[in-house]
Amino acid sequence: MGFEIKLKDGQTFSCESTQTLIEGAVQNGVFLDHSCLTGRCSSCKFKVIKGETVTGSEELPLSLEEKNQGYILGCVRKPVSDIELEAEDLSQYGFSNPVTTPAKINTIKSLSTEIIQVNLRVPPNQKVNFLEGQYLNVLWNGIKRSYSIASPTNSSEIELIIKKYEGGAMSAYWFGQAKPNDLLRLEIPKGTFFLRNHSDKDTLVFLATGTGIAPIKSILESQSNQDKLALFKRVIVLWGMKYEKEIFWKPESAKIEFIPVLSRESQPKQYVQDVIGNLDLDISKSVIYACGSDQMIQEAKKNTLELGLNSNHFYSDAFVASN
Ligand SMILES: Cc1cc2nc3c(=O)[nH]c(=O)nc-3n(C[C@H](O)[C@H](O)[C@H](O)COP(=O)(O)OP(=O)(O)OC[C@H]3O[C@@H](n4cnc5c(N)ncnc54)[C@H](O)[C@@H]3O)c2cc1C
Repeated sequence: MGFEIKLKDGQTFSCESTQTLIEGAVQNGVFLDHSCLTGRCSSCKFKVIKGETVTGSEELPLSLEEKNQGYILGCVRKPVSDIELEAEDLSQYGFSNPVTTPAKINTIKSLSTEIIQVNLRVPPNQKVNFLEGQYLNVLWNGIKRSYSIASPTNSSEIELIIKKYEGGAMSAYWFGQAKPNDLLRLEIPKGTFFLRNHSDKDTLVFLATGTGIAPIKSILESQSNQDKLALFKRVIVLWGMKYEKEIFWKPESAKIEFIPVLSRESQPKQYVQDVIGNLDLDISKSVIYACGSDQMIQEAKKNTLELGLNSNHFYSDAFVASN
C-alpha cells in the first residue's frame, strides 16, 4: 500500500508501507539526508509533523526527548499513513544514483602504524560520479564496509584512508592480505555528506577525528568547491589525532586555518569537541561539518548548540561500526 510523503517545501513522493522513507525517496528521485542506512548514525533524523510511521529498530541515536518531540530515523521508519516530514529534497545538488562496479587496487601506502591509503581504479568504461564528501561501500569476500572517498572527483584514482580496527574482519584483509591488482566491488556513491551553499555564513568549520579527515580532504581539494569556499571569511579545520607524527595531510591553501588537536601530546588531554569552544567564532554566522567518531560528533553538536548554533547548520557523517 502506498502513502504520500510531503516535505517541508510542499514537494511530495509516494512510499510503500514495505519501504523505509529513504528507500521510497530514492525510488522517486528524491534525496533526503542519510548516511549509514542502518539506524546507527543520525544523519536521517527528521521530525514527523503529521502522520504515523513504524520501525523495528531501537533508533539508539535518538534521545527520549527527541522521540517525544516526533523525531525519527528515516532509514528505518516505514509509513503507515500519509506523512508530513520536516525534511529537504537535496536532489538540486546533483546526486548520482549508486552503481556497483568492479575495482582493482592500484597502490597501498602506509600513513602511520594503523592507517593506510588505498588507491583504486575502476574499468575505463565505467563512469563513476560522486560529490566530494560522499562515501562508498567496498564488497570483498562476503564482507561489506563503508569508506569515505578521500580524493576529489577529477582524480584518476579513488583514494581511501583506512584505519586498522583490532579484530576487524575487513581490517584483517586490508592490513594482512591486500595487494595491488586485487579485485574488489564498489557500491558508489553513498550518503549525503557534501559541502552545501551557505552564502549567508562567514565561517566554515570542519571537525574530524582520525580517518574522518578523508571526506574533508576531498571537499577541500575539489575544484568545483573552490567558489563556495571563497565566500567564507574563515575556513577552519580541527583534526583530532593522538600524535603529531600521525598528521599525514594538511590543506594546501594558506587561507585555511589548520589546527591538529593531539590528544596524547596535550596536558590535560584535548579533543576537537572541546577545542571548538575556544575558537573565537561568531557562532550565528558559522556552519559546521563533522566527520569521524560518533562520540566526537554527538559531543561537538551538543557543545556548539549550547553556544547558540542552529542545529540546521551542523552536518555530520559518523563512522559507525557495521555490525
Ligand atoms: C559512512 C561511513 C564512512 C566510513 N568511512 C571510513 C573511512 O573513510 N575510513 C575508515 O577507516 N573507516 C570508515 N568507516 C568505518 C568502516 O566502515 C568500518 O566500520 C571499519 O573500517 C571497521 O571495519 P572492520 O571490518 O575492520 O571491523 P569489524 O569487523 O566491523 O569490527 C571489529 C571491531 O571493531 C569495532 N568497530 C568497527 N568499526 C568501528 C567504528 N567505525 N568505530 C568504532 N568501533 C568500530 C567493532 O565494534 C568490533 O568490535 C566508515 C563507516 C561509515 C558508516
